[in-house]
Amino acid sequence: MSTDTDSARLTFIIHPSNANEVFLGEISPQDKPWDKHRKNAEIISSYYKKGGMDRYAKRVDLCSRNLDFRLVDDKYRGQKRLKLFSAQFCRVRHCPICQWRRSLMWKAKAYEALPKVVADYPTYRWLFLTLTLKNCELTDLRDTLTDINRAFKRLTELKVFPGIGWVKSIEVTRGRDGQSAHPHIHCLILVKPSYFAQGYLHKKDWIALWQQCLRLNYKPILDIQAIHADKSPVGLIAEILKYQCKESDLCADADWFIEYVHQMHKTRAVSVGGVLRGYFKALEEEPEDLIGKDDEAGDSSDETVMTFRWNTRIKKYILVRITSCNTRNVQYKDTA
Ligand SMILES: [Zn+2]
Repeated sequence: MSTDTDSARLTFIIHPSNANEVFLGEISPQDKPWDKHRKNAEIISSYYKKGGMDRYAKRVDLCSRNLDFRLVDDKYRGQKRLKLFSAQFCRVRHCPICQWRRSLMWKAKAYEALPKVVADYPTYRWLFLTLTLKNCELTDLRDTLTDINRAFKRLTELKVFPGIGWVKSIEVTRGRDGQSAHPHIHCLILVKPSYFAQGYLHKKDWIALWQQCLRLNYKPILDIQAIHADKSPVGLIAEILKYQCKESDLCADADWFIEYVHQMHKTRAVSVGGVLRGYFKALEEEPEDLIGKDDEAGDSSDETVMTFRWNTRIKKYILVRITSCNTRNVQYKDTA
């Protein structure tokens, strides 16, 4: 039997008008992305299968089919909301769901570490550097990434390089021709406060250095921005850690994806150098936890668990079960 308090809590979440089909994306706006990523996971699973990588296809297919959420108090809004506490992740590198969760966890780690850097280097400044080169054939992507990484290392070893630490990631987009690949580097660089008075590099200097390090016979395109002294680079860290290849590119074409997977095998997404290694080392590793803690949630005052299941037909997560441990009352609403 459910108590009055329990029903009051659940009414907040389950509106009577949709009591038969309750969709995760509708009752919990913050969990809306689940549908999109899970839908793309179906596409990626079919691409792995097409490429003869059946094991990966199977794992991605089974990724996060059931999601268990707890009801927690929202500290700031004074009401209940959902907090994920259990799911089975496949951990396949290019799985859209796992790629998304990984970037969320990295972001959380970076946000946690950033105040320590600011405390230790209060007057230091940040530069945001984007380094590109011309598109390459997709079949040359792996060699091109090796060249880019070598060139970046050369750049950081130059005497004129102003950074004392950096966080760098490689992003690859699909060329507009649908065949080629466009690899580029995003990099956040920590520089001494004196950089702007001494040893300052203009954009044309950066271009010349990048051209020299990459040994190119043309001037590469790049972008360099100095982050204002009053501003935090937190948004840019999010930009660096978001994904290696956006989902729309991954899902656009099976043949491109299959070759991309082969080319990217065992390449590294994020790397950290100089004095920032001690702070951001975790960004180079696969996060153990893909669920994440939630600082904005208060203690869970009840033990209600809501299980949502992926419905392949309508491409949405649907509520299939509510379990309340307090009252030992279990309801099944399996519509899948
Ligand atoms: Zn996955």
